[in-house]
Amino acid sequence: MRQLLVATRNRGKIKEIKALLSGLVEEVLCAADLPDLPETVEDGVTFAENALKKAREACYITGLPVLADDSGLVVDALNGRPGVFSARFSGPDADDATNNRRLLDELALVPDADSEAAFVCCLAFVTSDGTEQLFEGRVAGTIIRQPRGEHGFGYDPLFLVDGYQQTMAELPLAEKNRISHRGLALRAFRNFLAGN
Ligand code: IMP
Repeated sequence: MRQLLVATRNRGKIKEIKALLSGLVEEVLCAADLPDLPETVEDGVTFAENALKKAREACYITGLPVLADDSGLVVDALNGRPGVFSARFSGPDADDATNNRRLLDELALVPDADSEAAFVCCLAFVTSDGTEQLFEGRVAGTIIRQPRGEHGFGYDPLFLVDGYQQTMAELPLAEKNRISHRGLALRAFRNFLAGN
């Protein structure tokens, strides 16, 4: 594929997505390359709804094939929250630090044994010829009380990956991409592209 627009402004995600698509797409553009691209209102109740809405809008406006991602953290003891509200869990001015603090506050009374969580990523691929495909990835873990690690972004320092002694932020990017929700969804997308 010659050009693909990745409809996100999140630098952490762009870095991960570019690494995973190298060799299959000649030019990966992102929202920062198209400053006039309006921001989609993410008002869906599922990751899939939001991803599809972002991809459809960006494809309609640019005519380019678009890959849009919606992802977040799902915590069992919080009935699936923050879920689609992961980016703004602590309010309109949220950042990673305030979101992580809010997560720990909400889990303060929850026993360690009940802190199971998952990162979920839904990718929507939309082209101007009417193609619409969804790809999902999920990785399980538990939430710990003290942040650990310097890599990644978002809730990574609080997410102890199942089967590992490390948090997602302690894994090097290549390892995170190998096992992460976004890595899994992107490999499904890669397989789809390779088969078409
Ligand atoms: P989105 O940009 O609306 O998809 O929001 C995703 C939010 O979910 C991010 O701002 C992070 O808070 C969280 N999130 C998604 N993927 C990851 C990840 O790989 N690591 C840590 N946090 C993530």
